[in-house]
Amino acid sequence: MGAEQKNTVDQNRINRILERQETRMKMYLSHCVHCSLCAESCFLYMSNNRDPKYMPSYKVINSLGKMYRKKGKIRMELLEDMKEIVWKSCVLCQRCYCPVGVDIPAMISLARSVCRSQGVFPGFDEAGNMESWL
Ligand code: SF4
Ligand code: SF4
Repeated sequence: MGAEQKNTVDQNRINRILERQETRMKMYLSHCVHCSLCAESCFLYMSNNRDPKYMPSYKVINSLGKMYRKKGKIRMELLEDMKEIVWKSCVLCQRCYCPVGVDIPAMISLARSVCRSQGVFPGFDEAGNMESWL
C-alpha cells in the first residue's frame, strides 16, 4: 500500500488520465486477437512456469482494459487488486513482441499512472527501501 493511500477514489482525476490516451489504448484493446504470441517473449511469464496471470494480454485486459470497460468508475478495492498486476507482474522491460503492434508496456504504464494517482503503489519498509516484488 502506498504511503498516500486514500479510501476513496478521485473519479475525475482517473477519467482525465484515461481520456488523454483513450483513442490509442482502445485501439490496442480492440486489436488484440488473444494469440498469446507476446507471452513467449515475456520473461516473467516464462520464469513463472507459464502462469497465465503473467501473460501480457491477461495483464492489460485485467488492468487498463477493466478501467476503460468501467468508464473510469473504479472502486479502491479494484485498484488494490490491480496493484499486483501492474507493479508485480510487469517491469515495463518492453521485450514483449506483438505482431499487430499492441504496445503492452504503454498500457501497463498508463494503468500504473491511474493507480499512482490514487495512492496505490508499492510501499516502503521501515528502512525506507521499496517493497520488493520479484
Ligand atoms: S497483445 Fe498481440 S501478441 Fe499478445 S495476445 Fe494480443 S495480439 Fe497476440
Ligand atoms: S514489458 Fe511487461 S509484459 Fe512485456 S515483456 Fe516486460 S514484463 Fe513482460
